[in-house]
Parts: sequence; structure tokens; C-alpha cells
Amino acid sequence: MTDYDYDLFVIGAGSGGVRASRMAAGYGARVAVAEERYLGGTCVNVGCVPKKLLVCASAFADHYREASGFGWTAGQPAFDWGQLIANKNREIERLNGIYRGLLDSAGVELFEGRARLLDPHTVEIDAGGASESRVTADQILIAVGSWPDMPPIPGIEHAISSNEAFYLERLPERVAVVGGGYIGVEFAGIFAGLGSRVTLVYRGPLFLRGFDEEIRAHLAEEMRVRGIDLRLESRVESIEKTAGNDDRLRLHLDDGGTVDCGEVLYATGRRPLVADLGLENCGVALGEQGEIVVDEFSCSNVPNIWAIGDVTDRLNLTPVAIHEAMCLSRTLFAGEPTPVDHEAVATAVFSQPPLAAVGLTEEEARARYGDVDVYRSRFRPLKLTLTDNRERTLVKLIVDRSSGRVLGAHMLGADAPEIIQGLAVAVKMGATKDDFDAAMAIHPTSAEEFVTLR
Ligand code: NDP
Repeated sequence: MTDYDYDLFVIGAGSGGVRASRMAAGYGARVAVAEERYLGGTCVNVGCVPKKLLVCASAFADHYREASGFGWTAGQPAFDWGQLIANKNREIERLNGIYRGLLDSAGVELFEGRARLLDPHTVEIDAGGASESRVTADQILIAVGSWPDMPPIPGIEHAISSNEAFYLERLPERVAVVGGGYIGVEFAGIFAGLGSRVTLVYRGPLFLRGFDEEIRAHLAEEMRVRGIDLRLESRVESIEKTAGNDDRLRLHLDDGGTVDCGEVLYATGRRPLVADLGLENCGVALGEQGEIVVDEFSCSNVPNIWAIGDVTDRLNLTPVAIHEAMCLSRTLFAGEPTPVDHEAVATAVFSQPPLAAVGLTEEEARARYGDVDVYRSRFRPLKLTLTDNRERTLVKLIVDRSSGRVLGAHMLGADAPEIIQGLAVAVKMGATKDDFDAAMAIHPTSAEEFVTLR
């Protein structure tokens, strides 16, 4: 116990902040958390959760098309964007309530307002109007996340980010998506599945830089089959507002081409939300992207100020922020200094078809280990054999030749995220190709390919 009001004050009640607050309180710490926007942060409100619901919605287009192959006949399906968004909003509100309940039952005090550091132990919370309070804390955790970042090209004010895409009043007939990261690729699939005509503009030769090259090349093929217009090696120079009704915007590309659309979604990365937190009052060091620089325990250069999640720009994924939160709580309040392990983190892109991976790509493995064996299988999933969907699944294992250890597992195809999550346990434990082969297959599945690769 200290003379401060709290043992831990957390700024930001997103995935990382909420987990750290609850866990620290569970260890007996007196904890408060401040949130100025929405409980649950980006993931719950304008990220993972609503995104996955929209992905599920758009997948019905395939299900309806494929049903006739199995003898089903139904009327012409119709889609209502307004109903989807209203249902999604209701679910998000329910989750906000759950987060509030979780904090409450853990005994964490919630301040709804904007928090700012006055010095390394004093926080001022502005809850709007005249209401302002000051509290002190022994330890401070910054878990404020990140915010969409757009390049300052002419007409950028006409673009929306993923934040607004979740609340569009109507589904645009034509959408342009700029950026080839997780968000751009996922939203391109969502809009295309729901019936919009989609153009994806990416500045490099192939999107999803950092993922296995063969897997993303296969995804590019499948997206083209689904009618998505991929403009690679292409940059938007300006966005013009036109007189059109449905297509009210025109993108001017650097190759002289244009793209007409009703909405342009910019998904060109996110930046740490560090502005106006009072970090300068404490001397907290920032990196080149404005991220809070932390060590492997998530400690900044100021010994009692810690940071986790997107604001540290390490691996910007919800489960990673949650893991960082758990390590930090142990370090601070359980007497177990726990560094964060960022190796072999499984991840998925909820594209259509989805992509998932754990461990090294073929390119990374060759660079790091030299001799690697690559096993792959490309096949038409059994379910699609009765349909006219020609989609093919690709699975791939990267194996260190000298030790036989599986360095990476990659998949593009239905259920890839569900399958790779299980394999991540094996890869993280250091399983070898022989271990994989010793596991009997579950037949008939797509997952069995991973234990029968020759
Ligand atoms: P990413 O950083 O993943 O991708 C940004 C994309 O925009 C890249 O293709 C990049 O190109 C391109 N880009 C960057 N700057 C410009 C520019 N000035 N002009 C044109 N293109 C540009 O960001 P996202 O916005 O897609 O996602 C943000 C974060 O959210 C990611 O870090 C991800 O970790 C997380 N996320 C995770 C999801 C999941 O787990 N399924 C889902 C959604 C988001 P280049 O490749 O050349 O740099």
C-alpha cells in the first residue's frame, strides 16, 4: 500500500487496459481506469468484433449461391444493410455493458472522461463541462490504442476510415479501398460479399506485406475471381468530389487512371494515440511513429509509467495487448517479473477466403535458417465439389531441415483461423514434422492436410 489514491491508474479501457485493470485488482491492487470514448476500445466497438460480424454477413452470399448444389431451392435472397448495422450496434452495446460489469465486479473504479498526466504520479480527468478531478497513483499504465492515419492528399477529407465504415447509412454500390493491410483486405471482402463493386488500390506489388508470399498471391487470385478489381503498384494522387449521385467521388491514380465510387475507405495504417496525454510533463520517450518506447516488461523510460497495446506499436493485435496486460499485472502486483513473448504469434486476416498463419513465412525461414523444407497442398475443399465455386485452399508447412522443427504453418481457405489456432499450440511448443505426421488425421476435413503432407 502507498500514500497514493491508487496503486495503478490505467488510461484507456480497451482490450489491454481492461484486462490489466481487472487482473491487477485481482492481485489486490487499488485500480482505477479512465476511458473517454467507449468501453472495450477499438476491438469491441470499431474493430475485430463488428468486423467479424460483417464478414459473417457477407459470407451468406456464398452460402446462398452454393445451396442449390445440395438440392436447396429458395427465393431470391435480399440483403438489408440497415438491419445488419442495427443488429450489430445492439450487440456492441451489450458488450459495452459487459465490460462495465467486468470492471465493476473486479472493484475497478471507472472514470468516464479524458485523462491527462500532470506529472508521473498525478492524473487529471476531464469528464466534460465543469467536472474535473485529480487523482494520484503509484503506477501508471497507458493503453490508449491507435487511430486511423491517412496521407494528406488533396480531397482526403472525402475519405472514410474503418471507424465510419461500421456506421454507413447505406451500402455503397461502388467502393474504393486504399491500403493493402489487414483492414483494407478485410473490408474489400466484406463489401464485395455484400454486393458492392470493389476496387482495392495498393501501392506495392502485392498486398499483406509480411505474410507468406505464395499465400497472399493465392489470395489475390481468389479476390480477383470474386470480382474485386485489384490496382497494384498504384497510388491515389487526389480525390475529387463529382456531381454523381451514387458515384460521388473520383480517385485520380498516379498512372493516370481514375476510379469512380460512392465511398472511399482509407486503411493506410494506424498511429498511436499519444497526443495531449501529458506525456511531455513526465518525459516519456516516443519512437519515430509516435509510439511509447517500452522494454520487454512494457516499461517506458519513466520507471512508474508503463504502456501496452497499439500505443507501443509492437504487434498491434488484440490478443497481444491482452497478453501484454497479463504479463504486466504479474510483473507489478504478483511479484513475478514477466517479459512479453512476441514470438510465433498466430494471426488471421478475415479475408474471403480467410488467411491464417503462425510462425515464419517461407521467405523469413530461408533467410534465418537457410535449409528449409516446404510442404504444401492446394486442393478444392470437399464441400465445394457439389457447387460451382472453384475456390481452392492452400496449406503450407515450413520445416527446418536440420532439426525437423516446424517453423511456420500457413493456410488460405475456409476455417483457416480456426485451424491455425490449434496448430499454433504445436508450433509454439516446437513440434517437428514427425510430430505432425504422428497425429492421426480427422477425415474428411481440410485440417487433415496438415498431418498428411508429403
Ligand atoms: P496496416 O499497417 O496493416 O496496413 C497499412 C497498409 O496501407 C499497407 O498496405 C501499407 O502499404 C499501406 N499504406 C501505408 N501508408 C500509405 C500511404 N501513405 N499511401 C498508400 N498506402 C499506404 O494497417 P491497417 O490499417 O490495415 O491495420 C491497422 C492495424 O490493425 C494493423 O497493424 C493490424 O495489426 C490491426 N488489425 C488486425 C486485424 C486482424 O487481426 N485480423 C484486423 C484489422 C486490423 P505497405 O505495405 O507498402 O507499407
